[in-house]
Amino acid sequence: MSKLLEVKDLEVSFDTYAGEVKAVRGVSFDLRKGEAIAIVGESGCGKSVTAQSIMRLIPSPPGRVKNGTIIFNDIEILSLNERQMQAVRGSEMGMIFQDPMTSLNPTMTVGRQIQEVLTKHSKITKKEAALKCAEMLQLVGIPNPIMRLKQYPHEYSGGMRQRAMIAMALACGPKLLIADEPTTALDVTIQAQILDLMRELQRKLDTAIILITHDLGVVADLAERVIVMYAGKIVEYGSVEDIYYNPKHPYTWGLLKSVPRLDSHNKEQLMPIDGTPPDLFSPPVGCSFAARCDYAMKVCHHCEPDYFDVSNGHKTACWLMHEYASGIEISILKGV
Ligand code: SF4
Ligand code: MG
Repeated sequence: MSKLLEVKDLEVSFDTYAGEVKAVRGVSFDLRKGEAIAIVGESGCGKSVTAQSIMRLIPSPPGRVKNGTIIFNDIEILSLNERQMQAVRGSEMGMIFQDPMTSLNPTMTVGRQIQEVLTKHSKITKKEAALKCAEMLQLVGIPNPIMRLKQYPHEYSGGMRQRAMIAMALACGPKLLIADEPTTALDVTIQAQILDLMRELQRKLDTAIILITHDLGVVADLAERVIVMYAGKIVEYGSVEDIYYNPKHPYTWGLLKSVPRLDSHNKEQLMPIDGTPPDLFSPPVGCSFAARCDYAMKVCHHCEPDYFDVSNGHKTACWLMHEYASGIEISILKGV
């Protein structure tokens, strides 16, 4: 499969009165055509900022991309002007958010809103657009689409609004759909239905997906690969199996313990991760997780860990993976 997206060394900061917040600090990953990946981490870890950078939706000022490249479909996104970027957004990339009401206009019927997206990004007649709208609602599982198109967002339930937003995001057949906490506001049953729908559409339409979530429990059924972010950095990435069954970073262990597993019946007590993420005004010198990590060694407070290969395609930034981080040689590391 060929590459659809390549993010390299991305650094994003926000300038505030209190100083520079380093929200994303050197993030690199890629995505193949039609592939689904999840970016997981606590709030403030930089996952939404990463997604917004790809869509070029970072409010600037105060935000700015300080460094890095984002190649989407062979185009360097960061060098496009706003007009060029608008053409990419909507037709090539779609985005859905936690709260559909932030994207749906309460004063317009759902039909008109989808129609506007369609006529803005492709040369079709109003009649064709109307037909396509009904098709889209049907595709996302909204029954009675002709009647539903004439309704306003407030006449929809929460789950239906999320479906309508997916219909809108997919109307122009984008190659990439970015879903930022798309199910967080929904109850568990509806949440599962929306994730099922996204998976079905990903396969049917061959749309690549970046799912952003704080909940590792919801990614297993949708994503093929998982990126775990902490304090603006990627701390571990690998296939869903790697992350679920062979996680190597203590933060990933913490995340796995702190979420209910949809695929498990064990009644183990859920454990939140103690402590809070570091201040991104002045991130720590060593490992960003050191202050909260039960396994922290002396080296962790002084040197930032490299990425260590766990297996093919599975990497983690943790000194525990260093060949000396066991037995007697640990003293060498501790002596830093
Ligand atoms: Fe914990 Fe050290 Fe690994 Fe950081 S590098 S996660 S502090 S063991
Ligand atoms: Mg967010």
